[in-house]
Amino acid sequence: MTMPAKGVARIALLACLCLFFAAQITARGQDASRPLSPPTRPPTSRPTQPGAAASSASAPTAPRAIQPRQTKAPAPAAPSSGASSVKLGGLDYIKLVDFAKKLGCSARWKKAGERLTVTKGPQRIEFTGDSRDFYVNGIRVFAGSAIRIHRGSLWISRIDADNILAPIVDPSLGRAAVVPLKVIAIDAGHGGIDKGKINERLKVYEKTFTLDTALRLKALLEKRGYKVVMTRLIDKKVELADRPEIAANAGADLFVSIHFNSVEAGAQSVSGAEVYRFTPRYQPPVSRSEANAEDKLANPGDANAFWSAVAAYNIHRALLADLKVPDRGFKHHKFAVLRLAKCPAVLIEAGFLSNDAEARKIATPEYRQKIAEAIADGIGAYAAAVAAAQK
Ligand SMILES: [Zn+2]
Repeated sequence: MTMPAKGVARIALLACLCLFFAAQITARGQDASRPLSPPTRPPTSRPTQPGAAASSASAPTAPRAIQPRQTKAPAPAAPSSGASSVKLGGLDYIKLVDFAKKLGCSARWKKAGERLTVTKGPQRIEFTGDSRDFYVNGIRVFAGSAIRIHRGSLWISRIDADNILAPIVDPSLGRAAVVPLKVIAIDAGHGGIDKGKINERLKVYEKTFTLDTALRLKALLEKRGYKVVMTRLIDKKVELADRPEIAANAGADLFVSIHFNSVEAGAQSVSGAEVYRFTPRYQPPVSRSEANAEDKLANPGDANAFWSAVAAYNIHRALLADLKVPDRGFKHHKFAVLRLAKCPAVLIEAGFLSNDAEARKIATPEYRQKIAEAIADGIGAYAAAVAAAQK
């Protein structure tokens, strides 16, 4: 078969991009508990044929074109643009009081220069200096870098101002970077020989509960009119890199990965929910205090930081409200599925299997249905934020 010049150029571009992404992936930072096998296919865009999404199920399909999702439009101005900054610990920091005002909030010192309360409508956000977390209406949110005390005031990293505070306070600021929510990819964590977390005493596996919860969520979302694609429908192993790719091939607008948690120390006293977004570039994951060379690398997940934060925050809030479980925090990490996702992406740790009391609850179909309903509620709130931003 002869190849027209345009086709040859396209293949050369594809080869270049393959090498580029292979290099990115070789140099990645990873959570040791979630090893990543290198993807063998380049990133893909939304399929052109309607209906392709629903049928793809767990089988990855051939790539169609090289074009990351949702990055076609010129990048919108960052919410913090124009704010003057200082360098603290190698990062740009802006004055929290000034940025809060820019977001239309009022700010009041609880303790001058150290503790600040920021309010906007029903939202009340409490910041404490030299702390990596802050509280939004009592919900614990982890910034990527500590809020700093400097020159008698509090300062927030520009990355956190744009990627965590602005998405929570005013999602409409991200309007240029989002598409309407129609296709949702649900990723049931683990599967097959990868059992995930195990409670030996109760003889229960994470992989069983993630799939059952994912199938319940699928039914709820389809009832609400969404098209759903599953990264697996049965008990089988799916490579980590294939999961976001299945989502991308189906043209997913949101990627939701479902997991259950475990700890070794104090297992019977640790319970509750935590939800993750991808850690922004230049920041360390929540499990590490200092950034390293790998944190400076660009990743596909960077492109959708704003809306990943909106989705994760809304899902975390819904889990806490519906399940009435302890708040383990809205966190961030460099998990492979979030790093490689080409649409807004979240990872949910819906409860601790290492805690016998919580594991017994999770083992009941009724509680897994409640978890699925809570996630669906959170996705509903996210969809509403997306729709409002596009008005
Ligand atoms: Zn897991």
